[in-house]
Amino acid sequence: MARGQSEKRILSNRLEPNDYIKGFCDLHSPLDQHEALVEAERCLFCYDAPCQTACPAEIDVALFIREITTNNTLGAAKTIFDQNIFGGMCARVCPVEILCEQACVRQTSEGKPVKIGQLQRFATDLAMNEDKQFYRSQSSTGKKIAIIGAGPAGISCAHRLSMLGHEVEIFDAKPKSGGLNEYGIAAYKSVNDFAQKEINYILKIGNIKIHHNKALGQDFTLKELENNYDAIFLGLGLGDVNNLNIKNESAKGVEDAIDFIAKLRQEHDKSKIPIGQDIVVIGGGMSAIDAAIQAKLLGAQNVTICYRRGKEQMGASEYEQQLATSKGVVIKHWLSPKKIKTKHGKLASVKFNYTELKNGKLMDINQSLTLKADQLFKAIGQNLISESISELQLKSKRILVDDNMQTSNKKIWAGGDCIFGGDDLTVTASANGRDAAIDINKKLLGGAK
Ligand SMILES: Cc1cc2nc3c(=O)[nH]c(=O)nc-3n(C[C@H](O)[C@H](O)[C@H](O)COP(=O)(O)OP(=O)(O)OC[C@H]3O[C@@H](n4cnc5c(N)ncnc54)[C@H](O)[C@@H]3O)c2cc1C
Ligand code: SF4
Repeated sequence: MARGQSEKRILSNRLEPNDYIKGFCDLHSPLDQHEALVEAERCLFCYDAPCQTACPAEIDVALFIREITTNNTLGAAKTIFDQNIFGGMCARVCPVEILCEQACVRQTSEGKPVKIGQLQRFATDLAMNEDKQFYRSQSSTGKKIAIIGAGPAGISCAHRLSMLGHEVEIFDAKPKSGGLNEYGIAAYKSVNDFAQKEINYILKIGNIKIHHNKALGQDFTLKELENNYDAIFLGLGLGDVNNLNIKNESAKGVEDAIDFIAKLRQEHDKSKIPIGQDIVVIGGGMSAIDAAIQAKLLGAQNVTICYRRGKEQMGASEYEQQLATSKGVVIKHWLSPKKIKTKHGKLASVKFNYTELKNGKLMDINQSLTLKADQLFKAIGQNLISESISELQLKSKRILVDDNMQTSNKKIWAGGDCIFGGDDLTVTASANGRDAAIDINKKLLGGAK
């Protein structure tokens, strides 16, 4: 009986059909014309706009908001896209609460920033809905560039190279473009297949060919690319996940949060995703929060995030943490996983030791907590798969690049999550791709363009 019961604990269709629709709908409803104008009027058009400095893509925020106030919304979209061709996705997923909106003067003076993210979405949605194309490739240079990875870094690089007249070929190991925009970002942040719609919109510039299901290190080597292309850009992301390195990690019910999220993103009918009753998520970043919230939205009863350090050290922003708790997720701190207990080969519970900081070092203390669990999601960080790029210099297991995104090989540039020193955000990946393209162009044409 006990065995039968445990088999039934991970179930699909836990909720009524409407609950899935409600749970996975757009996190923020878009602003209408009137709301956008009222919000835009709050901007003080600061001459030294701290919001722009805080934006990793350095979008001219004051200018695009001013354009909205004068009903030049398409002009606003162009101002955004000039700096960040993923302006649409970033308007949905950027942690604005720690970037532009945190720096906004209205935030400092009144605790209520201008809704920059929402205004960015207002402008970029209009341009995309009208299919307004601002850029066309002219392919005039005769140079051919290979890009590995069709995530935000790779696609942004390709777009800028195409704008500058180069021919681009992208290779991606996955069947669809978009990288984590397609396979990672929480479903409620990118509804209605927005990631693919955005890619299609961006690629209309022309002169970008994409080969899916083609992996560097498997289908071709870096050397082969070097022989056949004028330059190479690597936007590989982080394809490997960290393990807990404790016993029973391969028990049924133990999964990587990233795999769970990817499966969820690819399933149109969320009711088909099986979920347990008692979920434990280990980690403190965005993946942990996203896995936990989405487990709850699928109907899990108890969802607990366990993080080995304190609230302040969590990678997920305060806003993301609050979002999780508002959905019923419990967040527990200072817990380090020690034992996965199983019953009939399946996960049954997870034992943690409490931790504390002693002289700056994280130590276990003699106190433990055991949580019942039928599903455990591991979200303790990702790593670069570096075998196929072993010739490049790495730092802390990521690709080392200079200020121009150039690697230790003068024919190869890199950007996004796979490089050292990044902040693992979509907007930064997009900005890196853009900057690499500008430098590739400069180096290939000897500063002629
Ligand atoms: C669960 C989760 C939630 C997130 N939520 C947010 C969020 O809300 N806001 C935010 O700003 N950021 C978020 N991020 C981070 C953001 O998604 C990444 O920073 C961003 O996608 C990085 O872009 P990238 O192009 O560097 O890499 P990726 O998006 O990872 O793309 C890399 C691409 O390279 C391909 N590839 C890898 N290896 C090879 C190979 N050998 N050959 C060919 N192709 C290869 C992959 O298939 C993939 O398409 C989240 C990340 C995760 C995991
Ligand atoms: S800091 Fe705020 S008020 Fe000032 S320009 Fe930026 S959005 Fe406008």
